[in-house]
Amino acid sequence: MDEFYRALCKAAGEGQVKRREPMALHTTFRTGGPAAFFAVVQTEDELRKTVRVCREHQVPWYMLGNGSNLLVGSSGFPGVMIQLGGEFKQWEITQEEENGHVLFKAGAGLLLSKIGRAALEEGLTGFEFAAGIPGTLGGAAVMNAGAYGGEMKDILVSVRIMTQDGEIRELPAGELALSYRHSCIPEKGYIVLSAVMELKKGNQEEIRAQMEDLAFRRKDKQPLEYPSAGSTFKRPEGFFAGKLIEDAGLKGFSVGGAQVSEKHAGFVINREQAAPEEIRELIEAVRNRVFGTSGVWLEPEVKLLGFETPAFGESADTDLKKE
Ligand SMILES: Cc1cc2nc3c(=O)[nH]c(=O)nc-3n(C[C@H](O)[C@H](O)[C@H](O)COP(=O)(O)OP(=O)(O)OC[C@H]3O[C@@H](n4cnc5c(N)ncnc54)[C@H](O)[C@@H]3O)c2cc1C
Repeated sequence: MDEFYRALCKAAGEGQVKRREPMALHTTFRTGGPAAFFAVVQTEDELRKTVRVCREHQVPWYMLGNGSNLLVGSSGFPGVMIQLGGEFKQWEITQEEENGHVLFKAGAGLLLSKIGRAALEEGLTGFEFAAGIPGTLGGAAVMNAGAYGGEMKDILVSVRIMTQDGEIRELPAGELALSYRHSCIPEKGYIVLSAVMELKKGNQEEIRAQMEDLAFRRKDKQPLEYPSAGSTFKRPEGFFAGKLIEDAGLKGFSVGGAQVSEKHAGFVINREQAAPEEIRELIEAVRNRVFGTSGVWLEPEVKLLGFETPAFGESADTDLKKE
């Protein structure tokens, strides 16, 4: 492993690789075992070399955004967690048309909150729905993140991706199979490098008011005072996950330190130093109970990584980009 570590440091850049890095520090659930290696790459070249080194040494790797939709098991991740820094956190306006339409390009490692702030400063409308989602642009494209009637699909024009072989392509958003909290990016093994969004010139005060209103509504309805990964389950067609969970009598239901939020039953929270396994067990229990009371199988939105046994009827490491 020392030979691999040296090769990884050379690829990702000196001083940018940590060993045994607790994922509790990098996920909004604030729990999770260590990643054997944690590399923050600053350039496309470093990213390409890092992936190549992993492939050559047959070490698994995983792309991390802001960890706001991810639960990592206590035994951690036995490979390289790759995060995007440096040039992946830049943004620019690449085109302004006379009709007020603006093309806004941003790196995949940039937080949506920062894009929201930039859009506000530039007086651009269209991004308000996403500004309060605590993820990166890369994670939001992968998840087709959405809120309050908007989703990434509405504004994404194209994404720049790197394939597993290190090839770079520009893909129109129409080729990403974007649907409710889904894209084809994980199954194709693409890494999102940046994305272009179409926004519009608007009234800065109206944009600010809209962002403040949505932030207020989040704070009012969501248990933001506890660590979580947001809505634990996808919205089943024709139902609301939170309502089904509440109707099953599960509001406040706990497994160890994990709890179905009393404020919003759609959120599983880390109420008190929950082990990832407790969170997972609670998710499983909620699914079973809700199926029993309503006949609806809730599909988790949160991604699981580093659990020994498969969960939810599929491989636990569904998104593991392994050779
Ligand atoms: C309090 C709270 C509120 C939330 N509210 C919402 C909401 O309103 N709407 C909503 O949709 N979501 C919401 N979420 C969930 C989460 O913020 C989103 O799913 C977000 O898009 C995840 O982004 P991330 O950068 O944190 O991704 P991560 O959780 O780090 O990763 C998610 C997936 O994307 C992949 N990925 C990340 N970056 C890249 C990349 N550059 N290239 C390839 N793959 C990549 C990862 O491998 C993983 O499979 C909320 C979460 C919290 C904690």
